[in-house]
Amino acid sequence: MKKQIAILGATGSIGTQALQVVEEHPDLYEVYALTANNKVDLLAEQARKFRPEAVVIANEDKYSQLKEALSDMPVKVYAGTDALCQIVESQPIDIVLTAMVGYAGLRPTINAIKAGKTIALANKETLVVAGELINRLAGERHTPILPVDSEHSAVFQCLEMNNPVHKIILTASGGPFRTYTLEQLKTVTKAQALKHPNWHMGAKITIDSASMMNKGFEVMEAKWLFGVRPDQIEVVVHPQSVIHSMVEFEDGAVKAQLGVPDMRLPIQYAFSYPKRVHLSGERLDFSKYDTLTFEKPDTTRFRNLALAYEALHQGGNMPCIVNAANEVVVAAFLSDRISFLGMSDVIEKAMTRVPFIRTPDYADYVETDAETRRIAAELVINGVK
Ligand code: NDP
Repeated sequence: MKKQIAILGATGSIGTQALQVVEEHPDLYEVYALTANNKVDLLAEQARKFRPEAVVIANEDKYSQLKEALSDMPVKVYAGTDALCQIVESQPIDIVLTAMVGYAGLRPTINAIKAGKTIALANKETLVVAGELINRLAGERHTPILPVDSEHSAVFQCLEMNNPVHKIILTASGGPFRTYTLEQLKTVTKAQALKHPNWHMGAKITIDSASMMNKGFEVMEAKWLFGVRPDQIEVVVHPQSVIHSMVEFEDGAVKAQLGVPDMRLPIQYAFSYPKRVHLSGERLDFSKYDTLTFEKPDTTRFRNLALAYEALHQGGNMPCIVNAANEVVVAAFLSDRISFLGMSDVIEKAMTRVPFIRTPDYADYVETDAETRRIAAELVINGVK
């Protein structure tokens, strides 16, 4: 039986690569639903090619355009975030790939877990914001959450059934500004930040990679996915991005997963797990690498990583605050309204301004997200004093 897949965020970097995986294995996978936010033309083109049962455009203003574009197709067309959150519950769906960007991924992921769907989790913000809630729900419903983030997929591939993890070592490329001084970082532009040395990704995660907030989020994600303490998660900068991450066991043995930087592999592994199936494309050629290097991350230049660890230690709604503030400042940086280093200033300030809640429920997360966005937007306009 082919696995029925719903791809949330089909028009993005992860979504389009997921469709390449489906295309390579038409005998294994079928697309049940595709969703996007604004890109009507691409979504319609994908629907023509992959013939899903349903498509959803989150932006309701685009509904008639999408409906018109697919008027000759036997596909159900929906619009709005409620429709997006409901589509994941459809009975035939086996796997929901959460490849939307940001906080918007939280509600559909919760719904998919409650409906018992296997989650292929790319949307790390879901675990950053509400890791405790997500883990509890997944535990109650026995819903598997399979990592798509390359680092977490690497860790997942290294785990051993009968041996607990002693330490997780997440590798980081260091991004485009790895060698920049603090002085140089003051004036970097979005064009520079958007040029990631090893990966082609959506704009938000590319900026997060340049600021190392992405790595901070991955530390949080690792805590919830693998049930480890923050002090068991180490970040090491490995500019070649050949080792995707590592696990150290009690006896000091370290296992690593290696490969070319190609997100199709972790996406496909989440779809095919526990099996491995063929993946076309480049293979790792060791003769191309004279050296693999490793450095400690510098949290003086990349303060976001320290802020993320701090939020993880504090727990409660603090990671949710960091996530919301980060979404606001990244959008501001992408529209030239804040400097690169100014992003960390706003996040740090927001962490002190938004009320702390030790044991938040879903409503608290919603409230925290909204309140943080309001405060962070104000700080972007008025500056941090
Ligand atoms: P992109 O920006 O490339 O794509 C985002 C997708 O989400 C698009 O389909 C977009 O639709 C849709 N979307 C955006 N906002 C909303 C919204 N409010 N409601 C509904 N849909 C929305 O992002 P990426 O593919 O790079 O990243 C997706 C997720 O995967 C992120 O959480 C990221 O951290 C994670 N990830 C990405 C990696 C990568 O290599 N790209 C690696 C590891 C994790 P539209 O195109 O119509 O705007």
